Amino acid sequence: MAILEILEYPDPRLRTQAKPVKVVDDSIRTLIANMLETMYDAPGIGLAASQVNVHQRIIVLDVSENRDEPHAFINPHLELFDGTIETEEGCLSVPGFYEPVTRAEHIRLTALDRLGEPLELETHGVLAVCIQHECDHLEGKLFVDYLSSLKRMRIRRKLEKQQRIQA
Ligand code: ZN
Repeated sequence: MAILEILEYPDPRLRTQAKPVKVVDDSIRTLIANMLETMYDAPGIGLAASQVNVHQRIIVLDVSENRDEPHAFINPHLELFDGTIETEEGCLSVPGFYEPVTRAEHIRLTALDRLGEPLELETHGVLAVCIQHECDHLEGKLFVDYLSSLKRMRIRRKLEKQQRIQA
């Protein structure tokens, strides 16, 4: 397995629209294993393939306390239900910033699993929020897009400054 490099905002590659996975084969399973390792190492609770510069529709998550309930969803499709929830969101591509975002509290997800088998999941709360956040990445969307332009600019300037120092 390998730790992958995570793209950071405002990298324009994060704005790429991801393409559906056509065949769930060993290369996809290896990518998922590497994405999970990268997510646990970061550490984070979710990661989309877009964030590691692979523009295919794959997300991984683990919102469990013991970090032992990995999920991997391929070609996820979301259905949003009534009810909203506001949580402080962060993102491995926007390191160090946490801001409140309002999303659907209750969702249904259909996707393929690691074997290419269809699965369906109806869920609430943190897992539902995390799935919505990761699915946004596949559309090239980031949680900062839900913030005011003033806040987004402030985050962008700070991250650009850090990236210049690192480079
Ligand atoms: Zn994210």
